[in-house]
Amino acid sequence: MGKHSLKEKLLAGYDGALDKDGISGRRLAERLAALSEIGRTGDGGVNRPGFSDKEKEAKRQVMEWLEEAGFEVRHDGAGNVIGRLKGESDAPAFAAGSHVDSVPNGGNFDGPLGVLSALEVAEAWKDTGFVPQVPYEVIIFSEEEGSRFGAGILGSQAMTGDLDREKVEGLSDKEGRAFAEVVEAYGSSVDNFLGAARNLGEIGFYAEVHIEQGKLLEAADLPAGIVKGIAGPAWLDVAFHGSAGHAGNTPMAGRRDPLVAAGRFVSEVSSLPALFSETAVATVGRMNVSPNGTNVIPEQVELTVDIRDLDKETRDGLVGKVRETAERCAADCGVNVDIRLASSIDPVPVKEDVRAELREVFGEMDLNPMELMSGAGHDAMILGRHVPMAMIFVQSKDGVSHNPAEWSDLSDCLHGVHLLKKFAERQMEKIAGE
Ligand SMILES: [Zn+2]
Repeated sequence: MGKHSLKEKLLAGYDGALDKDGISGRRLAERLAALSEIGRTGDGGVNRPGFSDKEKEAKRQVMEWLEEAGFEVRHDGAGNVIGRLKGESDAPAFAAGSHVDSVPNGGNFDGPLGVLSALEVAEAWKDTGFVPQVPYEVIIFSEEEGSRFGAGILGSQAMTGDLDREKVEGLSDKEGRAFAEVVEAYGSSVDNFLGAARNLGEIGFYAEVHIEQGKLLEAADLPAGIVKGIAGPAWLDVAFHGSAGHAGNTPMAGRRDPLVAAGRFVSEVSSLPALFSETAVATVGRMNVSPNGTNVIPEQVELTVDIRDLDKETRDGLVGKVRETAERCAADCGVNVDIRLASSIDPVPVKEDVRAELREVFGEMDLNPMELMSGAGHDAMILGRHVPMAMIFVQSKDGVSHNPAEWSDLSDCLHGVHLLKKFAERQMEKIAGE
């Protein structure tokens, strides 16, 4: 892709009728393109891991735009950027945002679209002379993707006070740098990071626009949809231990091969979610075989299982079944197994009254209000445990995400901005009246 091609590609073929009520397709396209230049990779994606210079640069760029749009901008000890626009009253704020960090060689929409949609709403108000009834905040959360420490949504958890010291102090990145070292290099400290916890009474509502990262909206030919809940992931670390031996000199009988147990286990895991619900999923995405030699029977196999569902009870039921299966596969193969619950985040449903309000907003725009689950975790999932929350998904081409090929048409993105704006205006009126 040439330097300006993302912008041109976005602007080609978008529906100009969506340039109304102060919202500008060109401005949104230019800003998506500007962020795509920061940490740009050879194939048109971005590399902006959490707490990297590139993530910082992207935040700085957005901070500049926020200031130009009249926001008071600050960042907290976790590196979260908080832009605040004064309202007619000092009531709790309506906040919207997302993240600008990425997975390695990630796409140009996951995160930036939510941040820039939130900003575009304020630009539209500025251009039309609208003053919000209550303060309006645009928030960029730090390290959402977890590409540095293998633990994501750190910024939002710091803001809501959901992080504990022991957990963060135990984290280290791929180069072996401890969490404390990384945040100090970033200009903060562990104390300041944990000190980012806010008085959440200041936030009356949190909303996030995000790409779907799935194919349901595309299949239904809809630009946007209503998130009905965010599936909570549980991660299991499973380690099978056996006896190493020479591949040539050890007879097949009596072998204790942990990779044979792991192979059976991986195969069985894929059939378990269907026993629990239509939305449940389970994935083995990582496996380390050691010593990992061609002519060596492995001594140990470590793997992880990612397990999700919208409902906590069925999700936890599935976690139990996966554990049982690991134990049985180990016993059948004469090896030992250690299973550890590495993390478990409760699913977060979106409240029915919020979804009803979103359906009305979709109706105002003559859009079919399709509701769908988010299989991926988001900052909204963390905020949603503490304050009323809504999420709007924008159609993703082919459902591709975490990849340079990630794409959403500008018209679909603009639908997301209009929906957020209309929804924010309604909610602000509500907050002001409370
Ligand atoms: Zn994201």
